[in-house]
Amino acid sequence: MRTLSGASRGTTGGGGRTRGALPSLGLVAGLLTLAACSGGGGAGAGDDGFTVLTSSYPLEYVVREVGGSRVEVINLTARGADSHATELTPRQVAALGGADLVVHLSGLQPGVDAALAQQQPEHLLDAAPLADREGDPHVWLDPGRMATLAGQVADRLTELDPSGASDHRAGARALVTELRALDEEYAAALAPCRGATLVTAHEAFGYLADAYGLEQVGIAGIDPHVEPSPARLRDVVDVVEGRGVRTVFFEATTSPRVAGTLAEDLGVATAVLHPVERVAEDETYPSLMRANLAALAAGLDCDGDG
Ligand SMILES: [Zn+2]
Repeated sequence: MRTLSGASRGTTGGGGRTRGALPSLGLVAGLLTLAACSGGGGAGAGDDGFTVLTSSYPLEYVVREVGGSRVEVINLTARGADSHATELTPRQVAALGGADLVVHLSGLQPGVDAALAQQQPEHLLDAAPLADREGDPHVWLDPGRMATLAGQVADRLTELDPSGASDHRAGARALVTELRALDEEYAAALAPCRGATLVTAHEAFGYLADAYGLEQVGIAGIDPHVEPSPARLRDVVDVVEGRGVRTVFFEATTSPRVAGTLAEDLGVATAVLHPVERVAEDETYPSLMRANLAALAAGLDCDGDG
């Protein structure tokens, strides 16, 4: 029985998530909990399954890594779908009221924000306090902020599922170790690029730029669905020409038309930079972030030791 059409369940699991002994029981209990609660019942705490709803892939990744097999994670944005434009089905909206915990990032997905205001889940963790750039929710593109979120998720899971405390702490420690390694790779590889201008179609990389000393210039803005104005394009052309920018970055999953045309007109290269929003089944946060780092190191104007 599939209770949430369109949601990503990930029941096939993945590497490194074998802590605990009850993955299949947890899954069944999670399904039963959701089925019971979709009729308007209370939260499912107390059942064997602990169900967490997440609103977008980076949050799903953190909760899965921290919660391991103790937690059934259901992501509201289907794999491959654009998180900015998530629209929930009535069943998904109802499930928000019945989950043991909802982890979201307000300001990213208006459809999810509206449903949460309507459902008012009992236990909610909002990652938005990690966002300190005005109007920019893309905090997950900074591994350091992801590590902070891992600790917050572990605290909340421990509070709501105290018998799993040691598992949640171990999951968080492993994830923070992974994220710190990623952060160190970024810091080392981008050290020669300090001050470089990062021209990107979707202005999603402000936190990454802040963390590693880059200056982001966005073509389309924070919402990738807004077309740039002619005045904005002229500004970007001035930046590319004036600062010796070698590469215009765009995301593979949206049309590169504007970025591609601009790069062609200016005679500079294009390269893919993934905002970790539309994520395919075989992609993970670390794999996409390492691909991003390789693209940045190759495409930015970095001066090496000189
Ligand atoms: Zn975005």
